[in-house]
Amino acid sequence: MPKVVVTRKIPGNGIKMLQDAGFEVVVSPHDRVLERQELLNFIQGADGILCMLTDKVNEEFINAAGPNLKVVANFAVGTDNFDPAALSSHNIVGTNTPDVLTEAVAEHTFALIMTITRRIVEADKLARSGSPPAFGPEVLLGMEIKGKTLGILGLGRIGSRVAEMGKAMGANIIYYDIKQNAEFEQKVGAVFKATPEELLKEADIISVHVPLLDSTRHLINAVRLKMMKPTAYLVNTSRGPVVDEAALVEALKTGVIKGAALDVFEGEPNHAPGLDQLNNVVMTPHIASATIEARSAMGELAAKNIIAVLSGQPPLTPVQR
Ligand code: NAD
Repeated sequence: MPKVVVTRKIPGNGIKMLQDAGFEVVVSPHDRVLERQELLNFIQGADGILCMLTDKVNEEFINAAGPNLKVVANFAVGTDNFDPAALSSHNIVGTNTPDVLTEAVAEHTFALIMTITRRIVEADKLARSGSPPAFGPEVLLGMEIKGKTLGILGLGRIGSRVAEMGKAMGANIIYYDIKQNAEFEQKVGAVFKATPEELLKEADIISVHVPLLDSTRHLINAVRLKMMKPTAYLVNTSRGPVVDEAALVEALKTGVIKGAALDVFEGEPNHAPGLDQLNNVVMTPHIASATIEARSAMGELAAKNIIAVLSGQPPLTPVQR
């Protein structure tokens, strides 16, 4: 009986689907990230592995699983934890979970945009402070979305949905991507910018949705932060290392930009020193896809990918090599 290892407990029907398909399914008994050696021991003898973005899938991982391994299904759309060369040299299929989390991540991104621009965390603290002010004409003034320019960096599945939400709220949409999307431009009235620099100079809110690649690591760095308007906000729900976090702390401290809202961090689960001391930052601990709907669907799509590959069928959502 093929063995499928699941490196962390997941919501939804994914586990049941794997069991119903006739596999021996072994789920981590711990609701935490497994230590590396613990993980390597745990995956031994697996034919398929349903893993988390916190599990590095490289040569060591593949060797630890052993010769039966045929498929590694990531419980995430981003696959920067995969070493594609290691997977392909062992002829192992890697899969991810696109689309099913797009709405959840876009909604969370918009929640962050609203939270930072309307100063909701500061307001919540003030309301609970024991001495909240009465109505005051200048208490916690924020910024409206309508009429502002929302800049999307990476107009893929999630970026384009955030753009649509911004459009619905009356923002002007500009975007930068390595691929221009004329159809989307027509549909939403979005304007393509030929360089990230142009986008950074014009936008009032910049929302980052690129995958983490060599070409996008520190895409937002000290030099590019200085190109932003001092009144602008940076929002990142993609991957932490896309932003130079130490440079961001400096920019926020010195008024180079107005504020930032972050779901992802360079050294997760930690963040750069000083970030959590700043009032002009909102932080969430990598929960952008954390809805019951998305997380259940992610588990089910990962299960379908494993079932397909172990039954000799093509995977539904393979990672592009
Ligand atoms: P996608 O592949 O549909 O979109 C990514 C877009 O970025 C594409 O349009 C691509 O052309 C563009 N791109 C690639 N390199 C670029 C570059 N150098 N400059 C500009 N654009 C570039 O992916 P998606 O489903 O929209 O997801 C985007 C990313 O969001 C994922 O890779 C993942 O890292 C992140 N994510 C985070 C969470 C979370 O929980 N915070 C959840 C889901 C996804």
